[in-house]
Amino acid sequence: MRLGLDEHITGRTLSDVEVHHPRAIRRHLLGAGDFTGRLAGRKVVATQRRGKYLWLELSEDIALLAHLGMSGQLLIQPSAAPDEQHLRVRFRFADDGPELRFVDQRTFGGFLVDDLVTIEGAALPSAVAHIARDPMDPRFDARATVAALRRKRTELKRALLDQTLVSGIGNIYADEALWRARLHWSRPTETLSAAKAAEVLTAATDVMREALGQGGTSFDALYVNVNGQSGYFDRSLAVYGQEGLPCRRCGTAIRREPFMNRSSYFCPRCQRRART
Ligand SMILES: [Zn+2]
Repeated sequence: MRLGLDEHITGRTLSDVEVHHPRAIRRHLLGAGDFTGRLAGRKVVATQRRGKYLWLELSEDIALLAHLGMSGQLLIQPSAAPDEQHLRVRFRFADDGPELRFVDQRTFGGFLVDDLVTIEGAALPSAVAHIARDPMDPRFDARATVAALRRKRTELKRALLDQTLVSGIGNIYADEALWRARLHWSRPTETLSAAKAAEVLTAATDVMREALGQGGTSFDALYVNVNGQSGYFDRSLAVYGQEGLPCRRCGTAIRREPFMNRSSYFCPRCQRRART
């Protein structure tokens, strides 16, 4: 998504912004007038991502931070294209070229305008300042992350999902990474060797890189879609959503267990629960 946006809007200057539904800017506490006023006339300097967070870096050190929720889509559309049924925010540009539209049926997603702050050499919206670098970040420190993970004294999967430790790993990517590293989701982090902790982080990075690669193939030139990774979900998952199906490595039926109001999928033979 970030790459798609980058191609279409970096270097362009925002003109007027229309908020069609107040929920889409509910995290911008000063309201629609302030939101649109702060964006008008700002140039898009860069598109940025950290973990699951996406933002536009704008002139004068502010950021437009996007939360896409479960169903949010960002579309690049010619201004003449009819409005989508669930259009929530329209961003027009001074060049009168294609506009950016936020379409969200369930309205869980939205935006806020935030100040950029500098944290460890990176310019971040202040709302994202506590989020750790993700493994794709060129300055991601794998050795420090391994050490921090082993100090956590929690279940391994909880640590992988902790966005202040390492960002970008969600429930699906965590299950896939644990299967690749042959580790049970409940493994106490303090019992992991540094080599094994590094292995599961590397596996998570590989899963993310493969998903990003496949998401890229479904980009339409004028269509940036949060669900661009669906091809990956269909074909590449070894354990997530595979309950009862044979493990690709050993043939044992994949099992599902409840985990933090969601599920953990794993192979009971390849990923043994640690003895207590
Ligand atoms: Zn197995």
